[in-house]
Amino acid sequence: MAYKSINPFNNKVLGEYDFATQDQLDLALEAANDSFKDMKKQDIEARSKILQNVSKVLIKHEDELAETCTMEMGKLIIESRGEVELCALIADWFSKHSKELLKPDSIDTIAPGKAKVYKRALGALMMVEPWNFPYYQIMRVFAPNFMVGNSMILKHASNTPASAELFIKIMREAGVPEGAITNMFLTYDQVTKAIESPIVQGVTLTGSMRGGSAVASVAGKNVKKSTMELGGTDPFIVLSDANLDDVKSIAGRSRLYGAGQVCASPKRFIVMDNVYDDFIDGLISSFSKVKPGDPLNPKTTLAPLHSEKAKEKLQQQVNEAIEHGAKVIYGNKEIDLPGQFFMPTILTNISKDNPAYDTEFFGPVAEVYKVHSEQEAIDLANDSSYGLGGVVFSGNEDHGAEVAAKLETGMVFVNNGLTTLPELPFGGVKGSGYGRELSKLGQLAFVNEQLIVKSEKTDLDNPASALLGPNPDEK
Ligand code: NAP
Repeated sequence: MAYKSINPFNNKVLGEYDFATQDQLDLALEAANDSFKDMKKQDIEARSKILQNVSKVLIKHEDELAETCTMEMGKLIIESRGEVELCALIADWFSKHSKELLKPDSIDTIAPGKAKVYKRALGALMMVEPWNFPYYQIMRVFAPNFMVGNSMILKHASNTPASAELFIKIMREAGVPEGAITNMFLTYDQVTKAIESPIVQGVTLTGSMRGGSAVASVAGKNVKKSTMELGGTDPFIVLSDANLDDVKSIAGRSRLYGAGQVCASPKRFIVMDNVYDDFIDGLISSFSKVKPGDPLNPKTTLAPLHSEKAKEKLQQQVNEAIEHGAKVIYGNKEIDLPGQFFMPTILTNISKDNPAYDTEFFGPVAEVYKVHSEQEAIDLANDSSYGLGGVVFSGNEDHGAEVAAKLETGMVFVNNGLTTLPELPFGGVKGSGYGRELSKLGQLAFVNEQLIVKSEKTDLDNPASALLGPNPDEK
């Protein structure tokens, strides 16, 4: 039994799922190919209607979806509900905007005739997704690619099989045809085989640098276009003139959202010396108010981590940080509950030679750095293998944006926590991967930008005709 659903609140096994067979994978690939061919003949309006219906049907099933996700990977029920609503929003947005985003671009050219670049479907995509947003991660890829006419094979995380199955079932109910997206319980080898298939023309993975590197290598070897949405150690910079009330209202809760298991969660708080003590007081106050408990209970405010392995890894990372000189100023104590709870923890005094300095803590651990100048804050923020998102708090939004422009990350929010919406591109640089999801950029991630230049008749006097070489009939 490979894919296993275990409730991290009480460690009960909810279900076990066999790996797909090779025959099942072959059939799914054929269905994906058929679906791609069918969608080529279909008007985009037909898919827009289906996606609009997906948005409605998701909301109809919000309770079931939210409970399944919360029981399977532990996130707070309010967060699971928010995730379903975000998926509905994404489906709605692409159903309304894709047609415009996919309109051909005309090009002014000296070539004879009229030139246009069309955005055509590419084929089937292999999508590999993580457990931390079991629905949103699917929708981020599905909505734009369904609209353009790419079909998809989904390999979801091995600990969220029930969420994956339910989501696809609900999409079918909403009218998404067989083959347009197929969930499969694949091994890593089968993911490789799928990528090697000529039916698959694009590859996308959201997950760790380790997983991304493995899957991107297979895509590269097979010359398949890929996008990688990987981890992050996002900086949260507090400048000396920042509004500390705003900072305090955002910092703790954004670090603890999803029990800290969010790629673009602020992980490194970089704070100017004049506001440092105040900031630390605020963060401790925010962390100390959380109520661990059953994530299905709306009164619970601290969820368990998604698995026993995740808790062990995070504890190991914290221990290692301490061994190398980090100071615990709050937390790092056992929570007396059977689930995979991790007490919100604040680490300071992390020196450059500490492994924690360039490590992603995927859980409720805040690293706080005191800095003495803006330049020091920017240099520290950029001294990372990752470059996903970031936050800058400044008393002056324009100055905040100037600092934001100096950060080597894919996204920065000034005076607000980082968020995701269908119209905003999501993605990073450096070890956080490449490519963008959502927005116009996500819409165009897997398209064939096909140039067609049409002309009523041949024009040999056109300067571009020189590229045809000499005319052998010319005397
Ligand atoms: P992970 O281990 O890389 O797993 C993510 C997905 O990749 C899972 O479906 C996993 O399957 C699969 N996978 C891993 N190695 C593979 C391989 N060699 N071949 C084929 N599939 C492979 O990531 P994770 O640690 O669970 O997820 C957390 C990470 O994701 C964090 O670093 C987080 O920051 C990042 N993340 C990034 C974004 C973003 O948008 N940038 C969003 C969310 C999360 P199994 O489950 O079967 O191992």
